[in-house]
Amino acid sequence: MTRTDPDAQAPAPLVLIRYLNQCGALVTVTQNPNTPGQPRCYGASCAGCLDALFGTPTVLSSARDWASKHARECRALPQPDQQAA
Ligand SMILES: [Zn+2]
Repeated sequence: MTRTDPDAQAPAPLVLIRYLNQCGALVTVTQNPNTPGQPRCYGASCAGCLDALFGTPTVLSSARDWASKHARECRALPQPDQQAA
């Protein structure tokens, strides 16, 4: 007997780059799982203020620029649940 959990089977985004914001929260650049026939897609998100850039940037440099700039300016503290990661 197997239980299927769609979330558990979805491939997780691959973390490529991590920045620290002004207060130590992680700002990560991720490569989203490839969909066949679609261009490679990158995203970026902040674990402090939960701001995110997803979907649009297909170029690594634009996601990286967003994350770098965000890490420089964001002063949100890390979320309590995400400290372990
Ligand atoms: Zn932030």
